[in-house]
Order: sequence, then C-alpha cells, then structure tokens
Amino acid sequence: MPFEGLTGRLQDAFSGLRKKGKVTEADVKDVMREVRLALLEADVNYKVVRNFVKTVREKSLGEEVLGSLNGGQQVVKIVNDELTELMGGEQEKIIFAEPGQGPTVYMMTGLQGAGKTTTAGKLANYLRKYEKKKPMMVAADIYRPAAIDQLQTVGRDLDIPVFSMGDQVSPVEIAKRGLEEAIADNRDVVIIDTAGRLHIDEKLMDELEDVKAAVNPHEIFLVVDAMTGQDAVNVADSFNEHLNITSVILTKLDGDTRGGAALSIRSVTNKPIKFTGTGEKLDALEPFYPDRMANRILGMGDILTLIERAQQEVDEERAEEMAAKMRENRYDFNDFIEQMDQMQNMGPLEDIIKMIPGMNNLPGMDNFEVDPKDMAHMKAIVMSMTKEERENPDLLSQKRRRRIAKGSARDIAEVNRLIKQFKQSKEMMGKMSNGKMGGMEKMLGK
Ligand code: GDP
Repeated sequence: MPFEGLTGRLQDAFSGLRKKGKVTEADVKDVMREVRLALLEADVNYKVVRNFVKTVREKSLGEEVLGSLNGGQQVVKIVNDELTELMGGEQEKIIFAEPGQGPTVYMMTGLQGAGKTTTAGKLANYLRKYEKKKPMMVAADIYRPAAIDQLQTVGRDLDIPVFSMGDQVSPVEIAKRGLEEAIADNRDVVIIDTAGRLHIDEKLMDELEDVKAAVNPHEIFLVVDAMTGQDAVNVADSFNEHLNITSVILTKLDGDTRGGAALSIRSVTNKPIKFTGTGEKLDALEPFYPDRMANRILGMGDILTLIERAQQEVDEERAEEMAAKMRENRYDFNDFIEQMDQMQNMGPLEDIIKMIPGMNNLPGMDNFEVDPKDMAHMKAIVMSMTKEERENPDLLSQKRRRRIAKGSARDIAEVNRLIKQFKQSKEMMGKMSNGKMGGMEKMLGK
C-alpha cells in the first residue's frame, strides 16, 4: 500500500494530540518534530519539509488553535490543508486545443521504465472514455528496442490507432507526419510517445526540444515513477528545466511508495500532477486530486474516489433492479457473480476497503489482504452450476453439489460453505429490506 509508513507515523504523532482539549506551544512543537521526521523518512525533499513544518507551526501557534477547546483537531486540520496546498491545492484539469483549432497534441516524456508507453495508452483510453475524444498515438521512440511494437500492442488492445514509421526516421519527422495523419483521419487528440533513456542526457533533451518545436504540444506530460522517491523529483526538475513541461503523471502509485515524490514534485517544479497510474492495466489511470490525496495520506479515507469508481462500474438502472431483487428475495447466484465482477473491476479489494474513512485505523488492517484466488475459486464454483441452479439455489442437493465440486475442481466442503454463506446473506438482505434491521444491527454489534 502506498504511504503506509507515512500514514502510520502521522497517525501516531496525532493520536495524543487529537484527544487533547487545549493545546500548548510545547505540544505543537513535539508533534511537529514527529511530523518532520515522518516526512523525511517518506523521502520528501528536505527543503519542502522545512517549509512545510514552518508553515504548519506558525499557523498552529495562532490564537485560534491555542485558545480553542479542540486545538488538537485543529492542528490536524491545518496539516491536512497544508498537505493539500503542497500538492497543488485545487485539482488542475488537462488542457485541450480550443474548438476549431485542430487536434490537441500531447507529448509523453520520461525516463525509460517510468511507464511512459503504458501511460500513453492509458491516457488515450481515458480520453476516449471520459472526454469522448478520438485519440491517435504516435510511436516516436525509435531507440528502445521493441518500444514501437509495445505501443502498437497497446493500441490493438484498446482499438486505438497507432501511427509509426519504423525506427529509421527521425522522431521529429515521425511526430510531424503523425500530426498530419491525425488531421487527415479526423482524430482530435494526438499522443506522441517519445524516447526515454536510463539517465538524462543532453542529446535526448535536444531531440525532445526539437519535437516540441515541430508540433507545438498543448501539454508535455512528464511520466515519473513514484517508487523512485527523490530521484523522481530530480528527474522532474531536469526535464522541466530543459523542456518546460506542463504537467506530471505519477505512475506506480499502487506499489508501496513512501510518498516522497507525490509530496515534493509540485513544490520543486511548480508543475501540477494531473494523473496517477495505479496499476498495470490500461484503465488504471486516475485524475489527481490534492485534497483527496491528503486525506488518504492522513488515513482519513477517500470516499469520493470510492463513490466515483462505483459509479463507473455500476449502471444505475441495474443497481435499482438488484435492490428490488434483494427486497423481493429474488437475488440469485447470477446476481452474486455480477456483483463480484463489479467489485473486481473497481480494483484490489484491500485498496477499496482502505478508502473507507476509519478503515485504515482498524487493528489488523495493515496486513489485510484479499486473495484474488479466493474470488476466482468462488467464481469457478458458481460457473459450474447450471442456469437453473444459479437461479434457484434450493435445487442444490448433495448430489448436485458433488458434481459442482468436481466441475470446479474445488472441495465439496468449499462448495457447501459458499452455498451456506450465500443463503445466510440472502436471508440477512431479506430481513434488512423488510425493515427488520435485526441482522444488520447484530452484525454491527449493537
Ligand atoms: P516506458 O519505458 O517508460 O515506456 O515504460 P513502460 O510503459 O514500458 O512501463 C514499464 C513497466 O512499468 C511496465 O511493466 C508497466 O506495466 C509498468 N507500469 C507502468 N505504469 C504502472 C503503474 O501505474 N503501476 C504499476 N504497478 N506498473 C506500471
């Protein structure tokens, strides 16, 4: 999980303070010492840490905090606000060409391995899905072996066209011709994948500057790997100096990054993070919201992202139909499978659960993991049922259960357990929707 260490340490630092009524100057000092260490340990740039701590300390020593009855909570709020500010404050939207001004042109830049090619595909996919654009990708990385093939594969997977001229033509020429092709083909967004190197070198920068001059991009996205911490910040600083990038896309935020890059890049480069990559799949790209990220870092959950993800996956009409089925006790194994698929599409279950406020603080949550294999096994069992059995689980006699166990290569005990759990939850849903909240209250321990 990203930010795990940082979140834990900040929560420890605030745990005493939160309970306090009046906060003294010494309390603020103590807590800020802890915050400072936590940020440094998370690999946040030391200058950024210094300014951050100074600002929070000044604000926390103001009259309102020291004099108030819930001073502890106010300090946490100040930290939250300043973390949000540090990452840019308001969410910044991507820039498009003015209507009638031809296609929007984006240049993808970054070091090799940062996730540039994958992110070009994710971005094209995102723009098609959420902005109703018709993107085209251009393969202008002629140095890395297989980079062109990789982009073409991504394009095929997404069914989005990729323009390429092989690796014997200069990137400037490819970018120019790609743009012409996009205009001819009525495409409204052109995403140019450029070359990366293992390290920054002048020749590469010169070439990228030439591409920039040739196609005049609306955005130059710098793709950086969040896992590389301070290095990511240095890379961003250099690219920015040479190319004057417009924004940053931070990849691999699904890994256990300590947080340094996310927290430092904005204030070091003065360029906003616009998206984060949260997985290897081509739909694992999310707009970056500084306030939501601050909440997540402080372990306060990110309920808005959770709701948005659910909305993307669940069709409203279908959700109502499902609710009616539960109410009328018609919920069956087909619905079960459908909901399980929706959950899986929302991302790893343990990540989703941690977006619920408070969940991060529960004991044992650190090591909470849902084994995707368990989900796959459950699915295999249900898929081995006949249509009639799925619709009417009462048909599931011992004989049929043995057949299902064989068909899904699972134990009979596992089949029995799943059916039992299904029946129990169905019973509970029935009770809840009939207004008898007994089941739910029992579950919540009331
Ligand atoms: P490039 O050299 O910058 O073009 O990098 P690639 O697009 O080839 O990506 C390098 C590796 O990082 C690939 O294995 C990608 O699947 C992986 N990758 C890219 N973005 C993400 C991300 O957001 N999360 C994870 N976990 N992996 C990513």
